[in-house]
Amino acid sequence: MQDPIKHRLSQKKYRAANLEKCRERERLWRIRNRGNRGRYAFLVRRWKEQNHEYVLKYAREWRKKNQAERNSYLKKWRDRNHQKMLAHSAVERALVSGKLVKPKRCQSCGKKSPVDGHHADYAKRLEVRWLCRRCHNNIHHGGEKHERG
Ligand SMILES: [Zn+2]
Ligand SMILES: [Zn+2]
Repeated sequence: MQDPIKHRLSQKKYRAANLEKCRERERLWRIRNRGNRGRYAFLVRRWKEQNHEYVLKYAREWRKKNQAERNSYLKKWRDRNHQKMLAHSAVERALVSGKLVKPKRCQSCGKKSPVDGHHADYAKRLEVRWLCRRCHNNIHHGGEKHERG
């Protein structure tokens, strides 16, 4: 039997390129192997037992690689959230001190309505646009690349 790990990786690539064909084939395969369920799983399990070291090494490397990716993702997320928090509290303070004044109208559509501060860039903490709920939503979902908040 061939290496099921490599097999699965190459299968994944093939499947992504031939999705429809693969789905149909898998459907047929499932029907044909209805009484034979677990046979492949059994073969894989046995192969893994026989190649214990290899499987462990692979799992270790996979974990290491994914851990690094996960950590850098978490770090980015935390940094961004930190920036966001700082920006928001700067605005709060500026509102209290009177350095910033919250307008009664949306700065995008001009409608009289409660407004929220929108940061195009959290690094520029006091650069906010005051937007109504609707315009704020539009900015975040209208394809413009803005960070939330
Ligand atoms: Zn508006
Ligand atoms: Zn916003």
